[in-house]
Amino acid sequence: MTDASTNPTGPVRVRIAPSPTGDPHVGTAYVALFNLAFARKHGGQFILRIEDTDQTRSTGESEAAIFESLRWLGLGWDEGPDVGGPVGPYRQSERTAIYREHAERLIAQGQAYRCFATAEELDQMRATAREQRLATSYDRRYRDLPPAEVERRLAEGQPHVVRMKMPLDGQTRFQDALRGEISIDNREVDDQILMKSDGFPTYHLANVVDDHLMGITHVIRAEEWIPSTPKHVQLYRAFGWEPPAFAHLPLLRNADKSKISKRKNPVSLEYYQRAGILPEAMLNFLARMGFSLADEREKFALDDLVAELDLSRITTGGPVFDLAKLDWLNGLYLRELTPQQLVERLQGWLLGSDFLGRVAPLVQERIQRLEHFVTSTPFFFSDEFPLEAEALVPKKRERKEAYAAMKSVVEAVDGMRAFDTATLEQVLRAQCEATGFSARDLFMMVRVAITGRTATPPLFESMEVIGKARCQTRLRRAAELLRP
Ligand code: GLU
Repeated sequence: MTDASTNPTGPVRVRIAPSPTGDPHVGTAYVALFNLAFARKHGGQFILRIEDTDQTRSTGESEAAIFESLRWLGLGWDEGPDVGGPVGPYRQSERTAIYREHAERLIAQGQAYRCFATAEELDQMRATAREQRLATSYDRRYRDLPPAEVERRLAEGQPHVVRMKMPLDGQTRFQDALRGEISIDNREVDDQILMKSDGFPTYHLANVVDDHLMGITHVIRAEEWIPSTPKHVQLYRAFGWEPPAFAHLPLLRNADKSKISKRKNPVSLEYYQRAGILPEAMLNFLARMGFSLADEREKFALDDLVAELDLSRITTGGPVFDLAKLDWLNGLYLRELTPQQLVERLQGWLLGSDFLGRVAPLVQERIQRLEHFVTSTPFFFSDEFPLEAEALVPKKRERKEAYAAMKSVVEAVDGMRAFDTATLEQVLRAQCEATGFSARDLFMMVRVAITGRTATPPLFESMEVIGKARCQTRLRRAAELLRP
């Protein structure tokens, strides 16, 4: 496939569609970078759509953090929830009527149906599928319910979902710009749920409807969506729409080749921003994931990526997110700055009045000279302080008990959404209860893990200022040190 082949006449329109369910992820930036570069290369548009149909997990904080991180990297969008555009709204939670209408249309055409299966029925179907080693778990028992029976159940107000009628045999094929033709046996694909019983669409329905209505010409997204693509292709067919071109970027990997995860690498963009990675170095690093310039230069700018980008040249081998390499690249960028530019970067990082203004009130009561500001605050700025396992173990406690408690704290902090003083206090107090540690012992362990010290400004306030991403990294480091 040449890059813009499926829609040679219309303008290229690409999108990222993050779900605002957690911290802004390096994978989101990676996919955004290639979408933006592709749009620029073809003089097209780059759209940001928020996929917040998972009502229980989506938050406004997460959405705001995604916007901020992408803007920090310079990956701005032409259309999106905050900047508007001609085919909005760009937040799926504001488009539910559109999805409902489209689901009804498929039902009316006989391509989707209402399924009244209860949780018990579904459990039983799953068990049977396991026993008989079936490729799909839903047995399609509501697929051909007589209309009168459907009406009766609806009149009774029975809860139901809407499922798609997948073809029962044959194959679904599509072209992937990186991999060529991919084909999947339809027998292996379940009748996908399109509308949940809460009246919200699933990812699959909303994604296809929006990509079509928003005029998306190329879907450039992560490899993990390949198994969903046949369902999407069938949905486009059911609606009578031309599918976009597909390109699935390789998943970023930890050094051991497992899918990148916070257990092995910081994955939050906030972490890299706080640690002082320059945005242009981060973009360069991400651009090198599966892609190289013809002359194989390591250091290059976004414009170079735009000039040479050809999706079919991206390799699928699973690029390794190698922090040593990122540091090396960042060092190259830092050395290129003039001293004055370096000072400006430092001020834009944590040495400007914004961040200093948050640290200052926490130490003001504790210093006699201005120089003490420097000696009493290094952990607000850097993760690189010495830490010994012994210092983390409270008196009268075993190291393995401290390890278990620290792991429990790591999990609790991972699960936090708001990261303010009051929430931190609440979560960490609950951890005393959960671990059986006294507040004194547990808070001391956390204090040492976060600051490397036993005497510091107030713990929860300090953690709020240090920020979630760095606190997570430090707590993980402490847990690793304690591991028996
Ligand atoms: N909401 C999906 C995500 O969070 C979007 C996947 C896609 O681009 O289709 O990654």
